[in-house]
Amino acid sequence: MRSVSILGSTGAIGVQALDVARMHGIKVVCLAAKSNTDLLAKQVLEFKPAFACIYDEKFADDLAEKIKGSGAEILTGMYGLCKAASLDSADLVLNGVVGTIGLKPTLAAIEAGKDIALANKEALVAGGDLVMDAVRRKGVNLYPVDSEHSAIFQCLQGSRREDLKKIILTASGGPFFGKTVEDMKNVSVSQALAHPTWKMGKKITVDSATLMNKGLEFIEAIRLFGVSADEIEIVIHRESVIHSAVEFKDGAVIAQLGVPDMRIPIQYALTCPKRLESPSESLSLWDYGKLTFYKPDFTNFPCIQSALKAAAMGGTAPAIVSGADEEAVGLFLEEKISFTEIGELVSGALRDIPVHKVLTVSDAVSAVSEAQNYVRERFKSMKGA
Ligand code: MG
Repeated sequence: MRSVSILGSTGAIGVQALDVARMHGIKVVCLAAKSNTDLLAKQVLEFKPAFACIYDEKFADDLAEKIKGSGAEILTGMYGLCKAASLDSADLVLNGVVGTIGLKPTLAAIEAGKDIALANKEALVAGGDLVMDAVRRKGVNLYPVDSEHSAIFQCLQGSRREDLKKIILTASGGPFFGKTVEDMKNVSVSQALAHPTWKMGKKITVDSATLMNKGLEFIEAIRLFGVSADEIEIVIHRESVIHSAVEFKDGAVIAQLGVPDMRIPIQYALTCPKRLESPSESLSLWDYGKLTFYKPDFTNFPCIQSALKAAAMGGTAPAIVSGADEEAVGLFLEEKISFTEIGELVSGALRDIPVHKVLTVSDAVSAVSEAQNYVRERFKSMKGA
């Protein structure tokens, strides 16, 4: 069994990864969190890793107090997060960090020759070809954790890449499926957070409601599987039972199914190619009765439109969309902007910010911060007027 370092251990992915680790006795050598010292301390005392990393340095003393006597060495900040990603004692790094701060640790892990289980889609979207180039150069394995990409990865096992014709990327459609922009103008934060099928963190749940999540996943699929935009078809599938599918040249379509429980793709990323018992429920197609499919509504969900446009533009365009969305979703969660303003701010950023090539990490990171600044400034002028 591989030993693992978990980045983002107190988030939805991290907590569910620890369910898997607990069930199978997977050795955890490091746990890293942003600021939740209560939960991180509890996890450290249970899993006894050699290192505990707290990204926000002002909580370091608090963490030290809470894990006194555990023997875990404390790491802090971006330096600590990159060290957590490159420890000698870790075979595999699970990156469940939310947002672009996950990019540098992802690259640090790959550079250190670690296999990586990647749940941090913003890093892959913003980072252009940097991540996949590094994966190829270092010869490490990248296991996708996102349920759709895990499904595609599983469907491709044992097949020849050149026989792949198309990826069918499924989407639940989120809580506002069938609604118009007008209907969504006044939706509340709690309505946006009421996802019909998946249990996830706040940022990704809002992204699922705007369909930005599917747009980011579209770009993620292009990067991970080396396909072009016209080789991916997005299908709304309300029940989230088919997690995605691939079509081969001979017309055969292979899909991966299961109950919507993130512990299944997380566990596969941690134990692949082994398939161990899962803490999740078994799928009963009798209980579902029928599965439904629809075309996505690009008109009423402008975020997915912006993401697809950014994919076609290339360069820093995906980083701009991802950064603008990260900031706008934050403002929405603080109830400072309306739900539909997220899409307006994202398309504004893509329209107004010049696009460059992504040759280095700093090209990606500065495009993200430029987009975040753009959203903050636009917000100020919107509310100040
Ligand atoms: Mg997903």
